[in-house]
Amino acid sequence: MRRLLAAALCAALITGLSACGQEEGTSAEFYAMDTNMSVTAYDGNAQNAVSAVRDELYSLDLRLSRTRIDSAISRLNTGVGLPAEEADISQLITSAIEYSDATAGAFDITVAPLVSAWGFTTDHYQIPKQKELDRLLPHVGSSHILFGGDGTITLDGGTKIDLGGIAKGYASDLCEQILSESGVTSAMASLGGNIYVRGSKPDGSAWRVGVQDPQKPSGFAGVLSLTDAYAVTSGGYQRYFEENGKRYHHILNPATGYPAESGLTSVTVVAPANGDEHGDGPGHGTMCDAFSTALFVMGEEKAVEFWRSGVYDFDLVMVTEDGRVLVTDGLADKFQQEDGSGYAYETVSGNPA
Ligand code: AMP
Ligand code: MG
Repeated sequence: MRRLLAAALCAALITGLSACGQEEGTSAEFYAMDTNMSVTAYDGNAQNAVSAVRDELYSLDLRLSRTRIDSAISRLNTGVGLPAEEADISQLITSAIEYSDATAGAFDITVAPLVSAWGFTTDHYQIPKQKELDRLLPHVGSSHILFGGDGTITLDGGTKIDLGGIAKGYASDLCEQILSESGVTSAMASLGGNIYVRGSKPDGSAWRVGVQDPQKPSGFAGVLSLTDAYAVTSGGYQRYFEENGKRYHHILNPATGYPAESGLTSVTVVAPANGDEHGDGPGHGTMCDAFSTALFVMGEEKAVEFWRSGVYDFDLVMVTEDGRVLVTDGLADKFQQEDGSGYAYETVSGNPA
């Protein structure tokens, strides 16, 4: 019965991805960063590890929140600045800027005023007037984030930051670190579309991570078999509103201020775990989160070009509006197509065909 229930819960996907174990471990399920999260550990000091993860992510949420007036990010956004003591947030912002530069601005945490203009911060959705977007767009861009010699960060007037596109990935990096320190070798964390799998399942097999079907989010476009990895999905179907029959989703093109219309319906970025040597700070979880958002904005061609450049170590599953699922060849033996999904599956190779 319990197993049946577990299977039912696994089928009821709350987020973009899910990973299900068979044996019972020690789990924590909680709500943070605007999403449902769950962490399950199977060995080591599992009990301590999952509660430490939960506490850490609650505290990170409070510090990164844009809606809490006393959070570190709110203070930065209201002109107070980020003091040097908030070194971890400063490091996260530095990584965000690196990923913004790497993706020619497709990922950009300074989209905050645009996100607010569309109502995604408060859930009071609206289509902003072009005049309003024209007023906000000049304040978007990493060059408006200023680093003082003393380690403080301030923003140019009118610029605000939103870490919604990267914070859960960073949270997954922290999961890996805490699980590692607690001697856990088999675990998985599901943080709202951000999955981290540690080691393999207790039975020794790979974790199975479903890639949600953007057209029918209760089903899959495929399943990944992963060990020691991050898998992060961004999709227009995850958060949106409709007006006059048109859908407006939460991933914005920083160049136009409008929801990105790139021909993609979801992007899943997969990368190896950081490894126990990594220590703290942003790692591959953060990278996957930034790139899933960025590549969704960039669209198929630019995303493939970026992947082929090989500057960063990751693989991709992209679902297109015209019914294709593109899988980069690093995942060839890890991706299982979904029978009857109706998608046409294509492998993308490292060298242009
Ligand atoms: P994700 O679900 O990781 O793709 O992140 C989407 C969230 O990141 C949105 O809800 C916004 O808060 C923020 N965001 C939207 N567009 C961008 C963008 N182009 N670059 C960075 N963050 C963004
Ligand atoms: Mg993201």
